[in-house]
Amino acid sequence: MNIHEYQAKQIFRDYGVTVPEGRAVFSVDEAVEAAEELGGSLWVVKAQIHAGGRGKAGGVKLAKSLDEVRQHADEILGATLVTHQTGPQGQKVRRLYIEQGVDIDRELYLGLVVDRAEDTIALMASTEGGVDIETVAAETPEKILQINVDPLTGLTDFQARQIAFGLGLEGKAVFKAVGFMKGLYKAFVETDASTAEINPLVVTSEGELIALDAKMNFDDNALFRHPELEELRDESEEDPAELQAKEHGLSYVNLDGNIGCMVNGAGLAMGTMDIIKHYGGEPANFLDVGGGADAETVAEAFKIITGDERVKVIFINIFGGIMKCDVIANGVIAAVDEVGLEVPLVVRLAGTNVDEGKRILQESTFDIVSADSMSDGAKKAIEQLEA
Ligand code: GDP
Ligand code: MN
Repeated sequence: MNIHEYQAKQIFRDYGVTVPEGRAVFSVDEAVEAAEELGGSLWVVKAQIHAGGRGKAGGVKLAKSLDEVRQHADEILGATLVTHQTGPQGQKVRRLYIEQGVDIDRELYLGLVVDRAEDTIALMASTEGGVDIETVAAETPEKILQINVDPLTGLTDFQARQIAFGLGLEGKAVFKAVGFMKGLYKAFVETDASTAEINPLVVTSEGELIALDAKMNFDDNALFRHPELEELRDESEEDPAELQAKEHGLSYVNLDGNIGCMVNGAGLAMGTMDIIKHYGGEPANFLDVGGGADAETVAEAFKIITGDERVKVIFINIFGGIMKCDVIANGVIAAVDEVGLEVPLVVRLAGTNVDEGKRILQESTFDIVSADSMSDGAKKAIEQLEA
């Protein structure tokens, strides 16, 4: 799960990582009020969307007066920002964050991610903050410092100092940077985060260290122990199809291909994607309706797949174990009846009452291609694409 910058900054504050004073707002008037309350003579108006690269897309603007705050808030709120992380359709701005402006001397980068290959948490830092870190990693990898933190020992002071020196920090800034890294590490572990990133981490003209941007991602499988984080969820930022699936207890992940899959059981769903790939096709999604899916669940799953316009053929691969094949077949027919069928449909059923299930599909008025095995189904789905 992803959260907004201002929410991540609140977590940072709780862990002693210094961030500017700010207020999250939902209207232009609130934006001006917030700036008045914050005081000072420089503010930053920041679009709150679950994507980085807002600065370059016009979603982060400095204001030198309350009039400018109003002007920028009016421009950004409701606009659709297209950044390298939103995809070409962009993301609509529904909230703003108004912050006190900071006088920047240097922009650094600091980030934590889970390093699965090393079974550790990787701490990465760079002197090239503020810009797109993926570009730095690709073009000048020597400018990225990395240490791997053993979760058993945690981040040690000497490791943190090593990074601070590597960033060219001196004097009290070294001490502060160590505090930042340890705070960020503690926040990361205690919230079951998968990413925690500060880009840029700035050194101000007074030599202070401040996190100007904040990004946190959490492991969905650990959210059950963080109800306080679950409350930060902003559904308007999430993939509508994935949300709809979640509501109906379906495991659904959007992928890049054009073969829509509906399968019961995660293992079979994986196997189905593999076999599609094996024969040269590309799955449009992973969709597990669950071992005990009933006709209604099948209908919901079907709606999600047909709602995806990239899907050019649908492949249903169901093993009737807990669920009998005839019930599944009736569910499929009911779903097709309700939402219509604009693309070819290939169905492979196996298990309990399979003959009855196949008969129901065959006798329906819809043009359904029946398959006898997984490979037969995958091949037929790909053939339908080419036809
Ligand atoms: P992102 O583009 O989505 O990563 O948004 P950021 O929060 O990182 O902001 C983008 C850029 O705006 C930063 O790299 C800074 O250069 C600039 N910026 C943000 N806040 C301030 C501020 O308080 N003062 C100044 N001078 N620049 C800022
Ligand atoms: Mn940033």
